[in-house]
Amino acid sequence: MRKLACSVLLCLAAAPLCAADVTVLTAHRIHTLDAARPQVQAMAFDGSGKVLDVGAAQDLLARHPGAKRIDVGSATVVPGLIDAHGHVAGLGWAMLTADLVDTASKAEILDRLRAKEKELKPGEWLTGRGWDQNDWAEKTFPTAADLDAAFPDRPVWLSRIDGHAGWANSAAMRAVKRDLAGSWQPDGGSIQRDAAGKPSGVFIDNAMALVDAAQPVASEATAEKALALGMREAVRHGLTGVHDAGVSLDELRRYQRLADRGQLPLRIHAMADGNAAALESLCRNGLYRHPSGRLQMRAVKLYADGALGSRGAAMLADYSDDHGNRGLLVMSPEELAAAAAKAHRCGVQVASHAIGDRGNRIVLDTYARELGKDAAGDHRWRIEHAQILSPEDLPRLAQLHVIASMQPTHATSDMPWAEDRVGSQRIVGAYAWRQLRDAGTHLALGSDFPVESVDPRLGLYAAVTRSDGKGLPAGGWYPDEKLTAFEALRGFTLEAAYAGFAENELGSLAPGKRADFVILAEDPLAVPDAALRSLTVKATYVDGRAVYEARR
Ligand SMILES: [Zn+2]
Repeated sequence: MRKLACSVLLCLAAAPLCAADVTVLTAHRIHTLDAARPQVQAMAFDGSGKVLDVGAAQDLLARHPGAKRIDVGSATVVPGLIDAHGHVAGLGWAMLTADLVDTASKAEILDRLRAKEKELKPGEWLTGRGWDQNDWAEKTFPTAADLDAAFPDRPVWLSRIDGHAGWANSAAMRAVKRDLAGSWQPDGGSIQRDAAGKPSGVFIDNAMALVDAAQPVASEATAEKALALGMREAVRHGLTGVHDAGVSLDELRRYQRLADRGQLPLRIHAMADGNAAALESLCRNGLYRHPSGRLQMRAVKLYADGALGSRGAAMLADYSDDHGNRGLLVMSPEELAAAAAKAHRCGVQVASHAIGDRGNRIVLDTYARELGKDAAGDHRWRIEHAQILSPEDLPRLAQLHVIASMQPTHATSDMPWAEDRVGSQRIVGAYAWRQLRDAGTHLALGSDFPVESVDPRLGLYAAVTRSDGKGLPAGGWYPDEKLTAFEALRGFTLEAAYAGFAENELGSLAPGKRADFVILAEDPLAVPDAALRSLTVKATYVDGRAVYEARR
């Protein structure tokens, strides 16, 4: 039927099959990531956004006469990029608050905060994110006093680059309901204090909630705006999907409202935020999928430990640069086990944050115990970050069919100090993409934005070079762990799709799959490695429709 020229009547009767509804896109090259036909020059998709056909340009044009044409000339097309671990609202909020990323000193931070303060009403909280004491001349945690002179009355609350520590001024600490003095600590968190027991202004992991709770609640409209901003930023960089790692029930409702209004420009695989209301809703009402195919929730995000930068990652032995400190557990092993058991009962995918070798071991032990015989099945449970693995735990991911959800830019951001934290032995099992992949582990790649940039080009570049933006260290940091450009692209497409139970629909361009793709001016599998970070995203398509087009 598709070979017939369409009459108006036939179009009305059979719109999806009608040539007038078909688009044939031709390009210099299309990397399909489909092993059956890895490279083609043309792709046909229908009005519902489904790929019909891939192949040589003249064949497709002959098979689909009367189809609409898109010719992207010398550009290359790849499947839509999927970030397997990001925080969409976090990115949106970061865009609404003071951006402190890449600040070289506290003085620079104060300058940026003073500029941001001009947008605020009196008494409104001044918030920001992205500070990192490792970037400063003196690499110690800051204090409230550093902020108090400039902001004596206005509460200031600034989250660290990894989101695992916050820095408050005295006005923000005064707004906290509990008395912060003394020696008590919240479970899974740490209030930094001076010798006299006075809180210094830095709150780690679960302690951050004390200050968070003191903040006025944002309006629904602002929260929705943050989501929309985050998604817009994602598609601008070639992302057609994000696995949102920690979505509350309220946030899911927000996403649902946007999806109902046709305002999700990309696909969201939402993970329920811990053993809370969203997981409870999945257990009660079943796994969730929006009819548009743009939104699903069938996973839960759990936390084993904190992060390496703030020494919150749980280690089997002391930190090499902080004797007596082995990090902290954000959920106790018992809480983690209870949450995993509940998810298992409800058919929910488990994705657990684990950074330190102890955090990772606890998660692997928990998964092994909870899954039992089901470990051999299609559970797709994941470890988020899987950053530092003890050598004996490394093969266990493949054995248990556990997916490693890793962020290449974490390695290149952490490499200046990671070995100080863990020493020369443990660093061998750190950011070990190659070892994990060679052991047979599914490797889904992402960025953890806004901890790192949302830009997947930086992830591709970091995966392939293990160098910073200046190309240092030359040859890459622990270069044996590098991935090839193809493996990196696979990690951001098919493997990420697999990690979201969507590899039959997404991740490659083949008949029957969704027409989610990115048009790049350059061929990512042909350019020199160093050029991966400056690929030009010309357009992003989801369901066969442009959700982003670069201005010419
Ligand atoms: Zn994260």
